[in-house]
Amino acid sequence: MKLVLIGAPAAGKGTQAARLVRHYGIAHISTGDMLREEVAKGTDLGNQAKSIMAAGGLVSDEIIIAMVKERIQRDDCKKGFILDGFPRTVVQAEKLEDMVALDHVVYINAPDEVMLERLTARESCPKCGATYNKLFMPAKTAGVCDACGEKLTQRKDDTPEAGKARIKTFHEQSEPLVGYYGKKGILFEVDGTQAVDEITKAIIAGLDR
Ligand code: AMP
Repeated sequence: MKLVLIGAPAAGKGTQAARLVRHYGIAHISTGDMLREEVAKGTDLGNQAKSIMAAGGLVSDEIIIAMVKERIQRDDCKKGFILDGFPRTVVQAEKLEDMVALDHVVYINAPDEVMLERLTARESCPKCGATYNKLFMPAKTAGVCDACGEKLTQRKDDTPEAGKARIKTFHEQSEPLVGYYGKKGILFEVDGTQAVDEITKAIIAGLDR
């Protein structure tokens, strides 16, 4: 299964992708995670991306496309993959089409105010990568990872200012993908304001139909 998840920041792409990869046994490709790794390692690419990400903009299509092209050729993608956060522009979608034939595109839709509220309440574990949300998926002990006991951190771009900029970027640059994939007949939409379990069920029902 080759799948794309589209949605504004904090629509629930990462949370749902983690559940879907377990369900279908396919690879999870998050371009945001890949970029954050480059930033953490201090590579040239990471240094180029750092300020763009902090400001809520998009890293250049050229860099992202090269990254994804290499990633989807790895062995763990043979059974399929979920792209989480890519494509984010129509140019990226066109290039992806040259690389693979997608089976489905899922659009997780929610109003801006819901996403902004969720985004500023997100936390994650720097050690094991577990993610939490103070509003609806809190850690058992505030600020501490359930899985490994590490202190939780907040993403630098999950502030109200950067969050607003990222939501604006989504509307301007990524929302056209809904029409793009809709025309191709491979897109379905799920209501991202539902509870996490309900969203997962709706996605699986749509994919297995
Ligand atoms: P995410 O974790 O998906 O919210 O991505 C975090 C940040 O990484 C975004 O706000 C962008 O700055 C950058 N990024 C991630 N994926 C892409 C992409 N496909 N194209 C351009 N920039 C991206």
